[in-house]
Amino acid sequence: MALPTGVKYLVIGAGIHGLSTAWHLAVALRAAGRGSGADILVVDKGGIASGASGIACGVIRNNYFQPAMRQLMAHSVAIWESDAAAFSYHPVGYMQISPEVMHKDVASIYEQQRAIGYESVFIEGEADCLRYMRDLLDDWQAKNVTSVLHEKRGGYANNTKSIYGLATKAEAEGVRIITGLKVTGFRRDAAGSVSAVITERGEIGCEMVIVGVGPWVKHVWDMLALPPTISIKGKDGRVHHDVPMWIYWSLQEGTLGVDPMLQRTNDGRMPPVIHLDTDAPLYSDVDGSLITDKLWGIYYKPDFNFGGVQGGAMPYKIATPADEVAVDPYGPASPDFIVGPEFAHMWCSALAFCQKRFEGRMDLFKKEPSGGIGCFTADSFPVFDRFRDNVYLIADSNHGYKMIGVGKLVAEDILGMGDELLQPFRFSRFEAGKLHPTSNSPFPWS
Ligand SMILES: Cc1cc2nc3c(=O)[nH]c(=O)nc-3n(C[C@H](O)[C@H](O)[C@H](O)COP(=O)(O)OP(=O)(O)OC[C@H]3O[C@@H](n4cnc5c(N)ncnc54)[C@H](O)[C@@H]3O)c2cc1C
Repeated sequence: MALPTGVKYLVIGAGIHGLSTAWHLAVALRAAGRGSGADILVVDKGGIASGASGIACGVIRNNYFQPAMRQLMAHSVAIWESDAAAFSYHPVGYMQISPEVMHKDVASIYEQQRAIGYESVFIEGEADCLRYMRDLLDDWQAKNVTSVLHEKRGGYANNTKSIYGLATKAEAEGVRIITGLKVTGFRRDAAGSVSAVITERGEIGCEMVIVGVGPWVKHVWDMLALPPTISIKGKDGRVHHDVPMWIYWSLQEGTLGVDPMLQRTNDGRMPPVIHLDTDAPLYSDVDGSLITDKLWGIYYKPDFNFGGVQGGAMPYKIATPADEVAVDPYGPASPDFIVGPEFAHMWCSALAFCQKRFEGRMDLFKKEPSGGIGCFTADSFPVFDRFRDNVYLIADSNHGYKMIGVGKLVAEDILGMGDELLQPFRFSRFEAGKLHPTSNSPFPWS
């Protein structure tokens, strides 16, 4: 496709956020009689779904300790449900299974889910939790569990298929998508606004830029000459200066190459996505050695797309300074950030800790490269905001495959149609000290 010289809305990134925004913006422009998809161009340096969205485990849940996150997720789940076939969405539900140290946090999540009408069941006490789990999966055997939050909505979707579903919807609205085109910089006018996007093949003039570049967000942030470090007013009222804006974490995921049908409920249905956190010691399923006696967690689901039982465990913080982290080649192609035998050992032992049917199956762990990195903000929560006057940044802090609805909210915000759900995610929260509450979960995204 020849490069256009100019376009009204230029979206960088053909992942979940770029494509959802393009689609919803096109629909909203048409509905308001203010334009159409022909006003929107999406560019991607790779292809559709070539970033984090294309390798995501695909779990969709509401379970967040932060009220603003939960409201956002409830909004997104409704969009997943609006066209499950196009988004390859499996509404099997989701379970957060927790130890006593997380009991209070999860109880408050349940209360607030009731308040927003998000259907879930909450089980408390060790004996009742065990009974509830065994009614569902008769070989359940995890220890130190005192609460189970069973979300009846949510589940998972097949990563690449859902992103292609979004691309089809956007293109049907007249949106153009150019792949294999890298943005290398921005031309700014005297007032500082972006007047054109600079690409490897020339410049494209634009009135507004929408950035949905996932793990590459720091690169675009730098191209916009935004600050590498920020000030954050902590909960103690003190201002902390020079906090790095971005940090990378490596996500640990893999697949046990069993028949996905192995993981069915007692009555033969596909089970909810399981997320277990516990402080019970984890011992090796191979030789009985202690793997950890600290709080740990895993998640998993049967998945025909991955060809087995797929899931992950806690990510680890990448110690290398953010400037030196090689994001490319990305995902399974990375020489640095794919999971190794230690992950396989821990995760397979953890599966066996949860359910007897997974005991002694570590040799079936798929050896193909898996995992990928995410670029997190200074507080690990998203930033959705305008910068340089006409650049809308969607930095989901690696929470975001499930957030298919953020693109709709961003489109509405751009068109001045409301921004209530996005307000808690403005950049100004750092300096103002309007931070999201943090939970006792071992994951940086709960
Ligand atoms: C292993 C793993 C598992 C995950 N599992 C889940 C999960 O189960 N549930 C969940 O909700 N989230 C999950 N996430 C997080 C989720 O995948 C991301 O938060 C989300 O996909 C980010 O979407 P995005 O649209 O912002 O970016 P991406 O999907 O990464 O898309 C960004 C696109 O921008 C393009 N791009 C980058 N720079 C440029 C440039 N300069 N010029 C042109 N194009 C550019 C890239 O090629 C890419 O295609 C997971 C992440 C990983 C790594």
